[in-house]
Amino acid sequence: MKLLRFGAPGSEKPGLQLEDGRRIDASAFGMDWNDQFFGDPSNLDRLKSWADENSASAPLISDGTRLGPATARPGKLICIGLNFSDHAEEAGMDIPKEPIVFFKATSAIVGPNDNVTIPRDSKKTDWEVELAFVIGKKASYVSEEDALSHVAGYVLHNDYSEREFQLERGGQWVKGKSCDTFAPIGPFVATADEIADPENLAMWLIVNGEKKQDGNSSKLIFGIAHLVSYLSRFMTLEPGDIVSTGTPPGVGMGFNPPQFMKPGDVVELGIEGLGQSRQVAVACP
Ligand code: ZN
Repeated sequence: MKLLRFGAPGSEKPGLQLEDGRRIDASAFGMDWNDQFFGDPSNLDRLKSWADENSASAPLISDGTRLGPATARPGKLICIGLNFSDHAEEAGMDIPKEPIVFFKATSAIVGPNDNVTIPRDSKKTDWEVELAFVIGKKASYVSEEDALSHVAGYVLHNDYSEREFQLERGGQWVKGKSCDTFAPIGPFVATADEIADPENLAMWLIVNGEKKQDGNSSKLIFGIAHLVSYLSRFMTLEPGDIVSTGTPPGVGMGFNPPQFMKPGDVVELGIEGLGQSRQVAVACP
């Protein structure tokens, strides 16, 4: 199933994208795509039955309707840094021996096609196409063998980053990762059964019509099962939590000279099987 949310910010309703591309209102199913939904795998079976019976008659979501973040706000938005060796190289950093883990404030989460706001005093706002996954059942000290049974689905994420805030202002990366609008999530969560091999998905990002990132999740240094198992040794992963697995090369800071964003820039990105998103950059009001 492809789970999406639509409507005005803060009052999104759950919807589904069907095989033929139609989008339907799934409010009548009675659950939002949140911790309760993801925490119990039987909900997905019930949703499939509901869709079989109701998808022909459910209200259609019209084309111009805003898409919201593809899940309700998660408890945690965890990111993995430098998880592609060629991105570590362009960033001038060593390939990590263990996953680099950082948080992004969940208040940064927006819909997939919402504007991205360049923060006040920012000179180095940058893009990062990423494959993210959504936690299903709770994960604490899980083995790598059992890890993927804790993943409910996959979703496209743009891990926007302010490089000066992130790297030149001391302390943790979280400062450069958490600005409002810095986490467009969607268009939809593809449930795990939809994605045959999450570690072989083409991923790309275009700025103002020019391709900047052109990668594949097969190049992840630390794969998804390892990340679930690894993270679960340091914290409990709860249903609905989102983990973003890192970006391939081609970010703005990797160019010589570096390329950073300005108001009016148009960023388009996508991952095979997970749809596309598009953000227009605007100045901080
Ligand atoms: Zn990232």
